[in-house]
Amino acid sequence: HAKAEGRGNYQFYDAVLGTQIRDRRSLEHDLRLAVSRGEFTVLYQPQMDVMSGELVGFEALLRWNHPERGSVPPDHFIPVAEETGAILAIGDWVLRETCREAAGWERPLRVAVNVSAVQLHGPDFAQTLHEILLQTGLRPGRLELEITETALVRDPARALATLRRLKALGVRVAMDDFGTGYSSLSNLRAFPFDKIKIDRSFIRAVDVNTETAAILRAVLGLGRGLGLPVLAEGVETPAELSFLGAEACQEAQGYLLGRPAPIEDFAEAIRLGRVADAAIHATSEPVR
Ligand code: C2E
Ligand code: MG
Ligand code: MG
Ligand code: MG
Repeated sequence: HAKAEGRGNYQFYDAVLGTQIRDRRSLEHDLRLAVSRGEFTVLYQPQMDVMSGELVGFEALLRWNHPERGSVPPDHFIPVAEETGAILAIGDWVLRETCREAAGWERPLRVAVNVSAVQLHGPDFAQTLHEILLQTGLRPGRLELEITETALVRDPARALATLRRLKALGVRVAMDDFGTGYSSLSNLRAFPFDKIKIDRSFIRAVDVNTETAAILRAVLGLGRGLGLPVLAEGVETPAELSFLGAEACQEAQGYLLGRPAPIEDFAEAIRLGRVADAAIHATSEPVR
């Protein structure tokens, strides 16, 4: 196709490719310096017990405030950081920052932190985490690490050994984005998970889409059978939340209950132990 359009187009494509490569290089460069330049922040999104409506904890979500690019979403820079290895320093920073903040909360709520495959398989992840827990004084039982199935498949034996060391520290482990990617039911049995987080694609418009509802019910049944609580991600509407209640899903998280925001915005929610009312007043991120 490009050939037929002549030489000028090759030059055009070269130029585009050149720009992309330069752009990528500058992104990699900036990412390496971002931790020391203090460009990262952590936002928190509330998690709720569906039955009682109680606030049970928060998920920590990383944000990169780049001086020229502005706010870069994690889906853009995490994959680059994983390829270059910058994720190791970034991941340590997120864990330390989150544990430090959570240790100071008015009530001992749970805090969930995403852990990348590269971090999990890194040289001494469990040892690093152990040190962070000691330094920050966070009780290990309050920390939940969110790990996707993709992180397990590249080296299942090593992943299992690491998960066992993490569990021995007393931290909890949740399977993130369940139902997407390499989902295999046997992973739920083979690895010592404490929770299943169902991906938001199975929550979306669940009250009207019967196929989605069937999958959601199946995952909830699986959780019950394995004795694992299930958290539904991406809950945006009251209808979705009431469906989850009717199906006895244990926990929920999503824009309906609160958008990711600085922890200060949830001071009232933490004090009250409830999300709904306080979350409405939180200064949250704009709709994407
Ligand atoms: P995730 O762990 O599955 O996080 C949930 C994502 O869904 C977050 O996107 C959150 O803002 C978004 N979300 C929450 N509720 C709703 C909702 O009701 N509707 C919609 N449409 N979206 C909702 P975010 O913050 O952009 O993060 C994207 C992904 O980046 C995360 O997916 C996680 O995989 C990764 N990530 C974020 N922070 C970190 C981190 O500190 N370390 C690592 N390794 N990965 C991170
Ligand atoms: Mg997560
Ligand atoms: Mg998720
Ligand atoms: Mg995700």
